[in-house]
Amino acid sequence: MLYSCNSCGASMVYDPERRALVCPQCGSERDSMPEGTSSMKMECPNCGAAFEGAERKLVYQCPYCSSWVSVDANLAAGNAPVKITPFTFGKKAAREKIKDAFDRIPFLPDSFLRDQEGNDIDALYAPFWLYTMEGTGRYDYTGEIQNTSHMGLTTVTEHKVYDIHRVINYCYRAIPVDAMDKLDDRTIDAALPYDRSLAKDMDPIYLAGTESFLPDREKDEEGYISRAKKWALESVDDREDSLTSKYKSLKIKSHERTMENNPEKTEGVLLPVYRYEYKGFGTHRIYMNGTSGRMSGNAPCDKKKVIFHYLVEAACTVISAAAIVGMLGVLL
Ligand SMILES: [Zn+2]
Ligand SMILES: [Zn+2]
Repeated sequence: MLYSCNSCGASMVYDPERRALVCPQCGSERDSMPEGTSSMKMECPNCGAAFEGAERKLVYQCPYCSSWVSVDANLAAGNAPVKITPFTFGKKAAREKIKDAFDRIPFLPDSFLRDQEGNDIDALYAPFWLYTMEGTGRYDYTGEIQNTSHMGLTTVTEHKVYDIHRVINYCYRAIPVDAMDKLDDRTIDAALPYDRSLAKDMDPIYLAGTESFLPDREKDEEGYISRAKKWALESVDDREDSLTSKYKSLKIKSHERTMENNPEKTEGVLLPVYRYEYKGFGTHRIYMNGTSGRMSGNAPCDKKKVIFHYLVEAACTVISAAAIVGMLGVLL
């Protein structure tokens, strides 16, 4: 499906601030995809060129005619994400945020963030699987609580001993596990945490102008499930600690727990990340969450500027030293 403008035919991209597809040529807006134009062919509907390297892409920019095209065959696949957290601000705003964060750093190269519109920043939707883990904990303890009170010269210590039997049903929803092999840790960190309140049902309009991918593996991949399970069990550990902290002493008689994935409730989601790469004085990368703006990364340092700075400083020192000598000369 082409993201083409009804007014002038140019290719539209999604604008997070206007929450619509926007035509960069004539400024027209559209808030939904045209109906009935979906194509399962892996070729550009505008110029007919075959897609290249689009096997896992959900959206594609044709290198021949620059059109943005949704990859409908992949969007209809069984493992296609059903949810998406759309970007809430555009690339220009992302650029401003980076500038604000790094502006105080001296010696930034002039070419850092050179594109005023932020078009040198990449917008990526990273695929994650969201797992639901359900389990039961059964605990038998003997616990003791001790109370001490003072009445005049008398101290009374009361020991209360309890037989505790607890059954707790656990349910952890929407545990995110990154589902793309080539995602680096910093991109994953930038995409998280997952905020359910920002997620929307999948709609291809959000994808135009981004890089968006299918998960590399299916949701029943053992490695993914075990990571979600590990997270859920660690959360149970924390909960158990808080359950038993009020007892002075505690003897565990028996302790069983289960934790299983509920496959019915597993769903795929796309999470938004901006990435900026600057090459020069080494390679520098900045990663930003596409909704909160939280970022990590480091800025380049223009060594020529540093040298110039110190040369100027050294020159100033020489000048002031000369001035002092001059003054001394006057005084003497
Ligand atoms: Zn237009
Ligand atoms: Zn084309």
